[in-house]
Amino acid sequence: MPELPEVETIKNELLPWVVGQRFDQVSVFDSQLIYQLPVPEFCRRLTGQAIESINRRGKYLIFQLSSAQYLVMHLRMSGALLLNPKEIRPHTRASFTFSNGNQLVFNDQRRLGIIWLGENIAPIIGKLGPEPLDKDFTANVLSQRLSKHHIPIKVALVDQSLIAGIGNMYADETLFAARIHPLRTTDSLSTREIQDIHNSIQSILRSAIAKKGASTDTYIRPGGQLGTAHLDFKVAHRKGMPCPICGAPIERIFLRNRGTYFCPNCQPLTTQMPLLPPWP
Ligand SMILES: [Zn+2]
Repeated sequence: MPELPEVETIKNELLPWVVGQRFDQVSVFDSQLIYQLPVPEFCRRLTGQAIESINRRGKYLIFQLSSAQYLVMHLRMSGALLLNPKEIRPHTRASFTFSNGNQLVFNDQRRLGIIWLGENIAPIIGKLGPEPLDKDFTANVLSQRLSKHHIPIKVALVDQSLIAGIGNMYADETLFAARIHPLRTTDSLSTREIQDIHNSIQSILRSAIAKKGASTDTYIRPGGQLGTAHLDFKVAHRKGMPCPICGAPIERIFLRNRGTYFCPNCQPLTTQMPLLPPWP
């Protein structure tokens, strides 16, 4: 699933091609792709509009349009945006042709991706937690958000209302880098451990953006190239392979139906239980 580094890469690589361009032709082949609007109305409203900028919030891609409307895309599990693909792929759900002749195709094997068009994006992105790479996102902010919950840290990291943009892969990599077991509860973490998680979140995400995202599954960049961030993965998608630090086999457990990878040796499940009082 595309997470923050993948969506950031898509945004960065689309920007020079589409900003300032108008939507000349809009074709939707799957009505389930468009949220709340009938397809003919979606196409009519979008055609002729210019793209002023593209931003990312969490895993959402937000096109700001000349009419003060927004085109918001979420790629979910397998969505991909391809620029001028040489061939029409079997899972094409929509295509957009711009005034400069470039074509953007929304390809989506599992058909879970979604597109909104409207003026008010607050109902879509208003509940997202802070951006983990913003300067305002400090260890203190993370600590305050985590301390209100009693849930496994892995579950907290992928909760978009707590922190935006982190998914399964980067949560596992973050916890390995911080040497924290994924089942540790949020309210059991020390200040030092939260500081380590905060540092790891930022370094893991920055490094993955520099590598243009991780192509472990269906993710490809708009130009068709793969990202290479997964080549640096230490635990994610590496069940049974040796831990790069200690050599122990990487384990996978299921947490809320999602595979969670960790090193049982480097990330021990230390329970910081208070000592029981002595018998009277
Ligand atoms: Zn290890």
